[in-house]
Amino acid sequence: MSRKVIIAGNWKMNKTAAEGRELVEALKKSVAGLEAAEIVVCPPFTTIGAVAEAAAGSVIGVGAQNIHWAANGAFTGEISADMLKTSGVKYVIIGHSERRQYFGETNATVNSRLKAALAAGLIPIVCVGELLEERESGKTEAVLAGQIREGFAGIDAKDAEKIVVAYEPVWAIGTGKTATPDIAQAAHAFIRQELRALFGAAADAMRIQYGGSMKASNARELVAQPDIDGGLIGGAALKAEDFIALIREALAL
Ligand code: PEP
Repeated sequence: MSRKVIIAGNWKMNKTAAEGRELVEALKKSVAGLEAAEIVVCPPFTTIGAVAEAAAGSVIGVGAQNIHWAANGAFTGEISADMLKTSGVKYVIIGHSERRQYFGETNATVNSRLKAALAAGLIPIVCVGELLEERESGKTEAVLAGQIREGFAGIDAKDAEKIVVAYEPVWAIGTGKTATPDIAQAAHAFIRQELRALFGAAADAMRIQYGGSMKASNARELVAQPDIDGGLIGGAALKAEDFIALIREALAL
């Protein structure tokens, strides 16, 4: 089954509107007419409007870094699906390890956010991944299985096809330590097996991105693995030239 590569930049809490616009203007020129992959940028909420405007008419899609499950109401600091959609957002990162680590995100809140994103027609990018101590104590598969089974509870196969999973080993995020292609592929194959147990054949249509210190120098080998369908990129997505070089390598252009 052929799956379209998806490369998404997670800007985290970086960039003003002007800086975001500048990056997208530079990126736009390099990816004009690109059909081999979906290219996505995920700015902070305050920068989404400017970035969506700059990306309009290009192949670049805009994603958010979080979504709340309620339509509206007394949820200070949160953003609803409709607010995102009407700001030009098509994708949304859910359950990033920084949200899990610093903001109390759990598999249950991931599940609620995921359902809200799907109901609104947004493409969710759901992050899973083990901590270093979990890997070292042989718990990687149990952790991934739990994140997937609880995070995806109650989702049907028809909706599942739209979900992008990002495998992000926490020990590789922002540390410069990338999982080797073999380690990453083994985790991706395991994730796909878990997805197959939940969703049957739909699992073969689901994209699984790798995330964790991906850069131009390792992107090609990672994305060449049979179950790695792109990347979720932090640090190397913050400068246009780095992100463009990574995209070119990932797609072997
Ligand atoms: C991320 O935060 O999703 C990420 C993968 O970051 P980095 O590329 O900087 O490791």
